[in-house]
Amino acid sequence: MLKWLIPSRYAPSVLALDPSGLVADGIRGLILDLDNTMVAWNAPGPTEPVRQWVGRVRDMGVRMCIVSNNFSSRTQAIGRALNVPVVAAAVKPIPWGFRRAMALMGTQAQSTALIGDQVFTDILGGNLLGVRTILVEPLSTQEFPTTRLIRRLERLVRARVVQLATRRQ
Ligand SMILES: [Mg+2]
Repeated sequence: MLKWLIPSRYAPSVLALDPSGLVADGIRGLILDLDNTMVAWNAPGPTEPVRQWVGRVRDMGVRMCIVSNNFSSRTQAIGRALNVPVVAAAVKPIPWGFRRAMALMGTQAQSTALIGDQVFTDILGGNLLGVRTILVEPLSTQEFPTTRLIRRLERLVRARVVQLATRRQ
């Protein structure tokens, strides 16, 4: 079970990921989690550094798609603000939303990486699909009540999977 929860890589945040390094690793498409990965939970829009990071990724020729379990109009608005397509109400870790994202980006599993802050939705889902998975720290401690339940479970394994991922790097 644990092996499905270990990310390929760990980074403190998306801003710590060098876009040219992703390209050097063969990544041509990025599946991005929204809440607490690209924006703090319930924040109305992305910060300037995140906008700039998305711009740098785009300039490197890497496609992006936001995949979120959230389905609010805010989710779509943030996608528009970043000029990145959104697959909402994705029911992660079930892989259909990630598959839809790869279809939109025109990438295969081996050239796709997923960035997310949750082990049991983002990392598990990405590993099941066979894309590279990058775990980041959540941008805020606020989140949905349902997420808080999953977080309790996650706390049991998170330190261990981060340690194993860091050892791989
Ligand atoms: Mg998240």
